[in-house]
Amino acid sequence: MQEEDSITVSLTDTLASEPKDGVFDVLIIGSGPSGLTAAIYTTRGALSTLVLAGSKWGGQLQLTTDVENFPGFPQGIQGPELMQKMREQAERFGAKINDVDVESVDFSGGEIGGIRVFRVMGDGKTHMAKAVIIATGADTKWLGLESEQRLIGRGVSSCAPCDAPFFKDKRVVVVGGGDSAMEEALVLTKYATSVTIIHRRDEFRASDIMQKKVFDNPKIKIQWNTEVVEILGEERVVGIKIKGTQSGEEKGMEVDGVFVAIGHTPSTNIFKGKIELDEKGYVKKNQKLKIEMQNGEEGNFQTATSVPGIFVAGDVHDYHYRQAITAAGYGCQAAMDLEKWLGVDPATR
Ligand code: NAP
Repeated sequence: MQEEDSITVSLTDTLASEPKDGVFDVLIIGSGPSGLTAAIYTTRGALSTLVLAGSKWGGQLQLTTDVENFPGFPQGIQGPELMQKMREQAERFGAKINDVDVESVDFSGGEIGGIRVFRVMGDGKTHMAKAVIIATGADTKWLGLESEQRLIGRGVSSCAPCDAPFFKDKRVVVVGGGDSAMEEALVLTKYATSVTIIHRRDEFRASDIMQKKVFDNPKIKIQWNTEVVEILGEERVVGIKIKGTQSGEEKGMEVDGVFVAIGHTPSTNIFKGKIELDEKGYVKKNQKLKIEMQNGEEGNFQTATSVPGIFVAGDVHDYHYRQAITAAGYGCQAAMDLEKWLGVDPATR
């Protein structure tokens, strides 16, 4: 059997083709797990691939410490290290990755030499491609407290499926009153000794079924009409200061963990008016988009958007799962859809 350390892996196995006349086959906006997974697939599919990664590339995992639920790393891996590995893997196959913020997009598809081209502006330049994958992700909404930002990853979290096991036999609170807060609280009951939901009003906005699960769970307590005004602790969370929204009364509470579940904001400002978004600003998928394939079958593009040739992947359309591994899976889907699309849409040749 071959010794493990004798295997050498070339880091320049370029498979992607070069852009023709400055037009890439695919331009990916965003560089979290969805964007970089898409780039690994498109480059390995020999498509010239430009990733506009953002000046803060790598997405939400860059802000995380231990990642223990991404398959392939039995001892866990640090979020930034995982993202660095994904980036190197995409670059290995020839992805060109620029840490550039996109300022605007033109998805009207003006033609160059009979080929429809999308234009994406950033860093004072216009970048052109035959097809685009939007993978800009979503930002966690935080409470906006200085103490909260300081203690993220040290007792403050926004992801119970990721971090709940670190709170075995500990006391935690969940802030929020929507489905996410219900879900986080239910996950945490499997590990924590006590779970308290802190909500600013006297009723939840979560769905009835999720509320019922919470009310039926004896481990969950609810603190209505309450907000968190400070998170206490230097190295780690040791408690919180809470305030009654009606009484104005402030008091302390000893806790080991604070899960903030007050929603997410999809990063879609630059796409407003250019592509269909839902009422919360997430990119809408257009799964009805079908075109006849060369073999006479209908192609079905699960990751298509309202503009043919623009695809979507990851948290920018997925408000439900929001995991690194699901984002990566969506990146793979978008890349495969796009590759099929380029093969059948005459406007791209
Ligand atoms: P959401 O529905 O917008 O709920 C956010 C909650 O946080 C609200 O209760 C809100 O309070 C509270 N909040 C907002 N800003 C706050 C602040 N600054 N301080 C304190 N509390 C604050 O967000 P979500 O729960 O993330 O859900 C987003 C979408 O995903 C929803 O459509 C939801 O149904 C869906 N989702 C579904 C599932 C599921 O089906 N299993 C799971 C997760 C999410 P107010 O109520 O007072 O406004």
